Amino acid sequence: MEIEEEEKKKVLVAGGAGFIGSHLCRRLLKEGNKVICLDNFYTGNKENIKELADNKNFKLIEHNIIEPISLEIDQIYNLACPASPVHYQKDPIFTIRTNVWGIWNMLELAKRNNARLLHTSTSEVYGDPKEHPQKETYWGNVNPIGIRANYDEGKRCAETLIMDYYRQNKTDIKIVRIFNTYGPNMDPDDGRVVSNFVTQALRNEDLTVYGNGEQTRSFCYIDDMVDGLYKMMESSEDFIGPVNMGNPDEFTIKQLAEMVLEMMPESKSEIIYKPLPQDDPKQRCPDITLAKEKLNWQPKIELRQGLIKTINYFK
Ligand code: UDP
Repeated sequence: MEIEEEEKKKVLVAGGAGFIGSHLCRRLLKEGNKVICLDNFYTGNKENIKELADNKNFKLIEHNIIEPISLEIDQIYNLACPASPVHYQKDPIFTIRTNVWGIWNMLELAKRNNARLLHTSTSEVYGDPKEHPQKETYWGNVNPIGIRANYDEGKRCAETLIMDYYRQNKTDIKIVRIFNTYGPNMDPDDGRVVSNFVTQALRNEDLTVYGNGEQTRSFCYIDDMVDGLYKMMESSEDFIGPVNMGNPDEFTIKQLAEMVLEMMPESKSEIIYKPLPQDDPKQRCPDITLAKEKLNWQPKIELRQGLIKTINYFK
């Protein structure tokens, strides 16, 4: 059924030209919303949203959320922040400003509009976790002065600020903690493990496993993630999170490298070992009981299935 023009929600996606943001914009348009995409193209990419340019319900505004902005909107998804270690460590002060000043501006915008704000936080708030798998109730183990702290502590401070707007101003908020996510529209050069391994294998370059490869991650396919974010935004007002979103199937990085090579038998690449970056978390796996209970959400796409789609995209 067609939604009447005046009944369409105005949804702002900050970071809408990024990897997850661009998929989310598409989904929101499909659901019959008007979408305003904000991006400063620091890591976002015009290519990701090129095909949306002619859609009358889609509007792009080039803007950095570090600066305040005035708009009329009903909902805000905040995904604006460089998210891969390579990108967020390039200009750490900028990353902190994006995380803290950026969310402050989005909260002010939500407050003025009486709008709902969904913030994408991260599994990085758990740091190098001592509890496994990670539940939302775990407070984390973060090095506040390490090279990952600009992102980890920035995201933790954002959660604090959001909770204080909720308590002090009754702002309508939701917090999602996103675990490693992969799929089409990933930036081939952002240094993330899935994009690195797949592009290395395609170029017949050796796959660079950092450390001994025994550290673990859990990989969620993009469609599952977008589905979870949408469900969280549309959930009842009293469920604010934080809620973990990710795929609880856990793999070592070495297993991932072996899987990529096995799935790409034409590649001449081999596995090589490089030093482990500082403060690299040893294990990471979401406990998604809360998302299952409250949102009836859980990932459907297995790693192998998702990797096939990702390999085809990078080809
Ligand atoms: N990693 C790796 N080789 C690469 C890129 C990453 O072994 O070429 C490792 C990295 O050290 C980490 C894991 O893969 O243990 C995931 O890294 P990524 O940068 O994708 O995300 P993170 O979960 O660390 O934020």
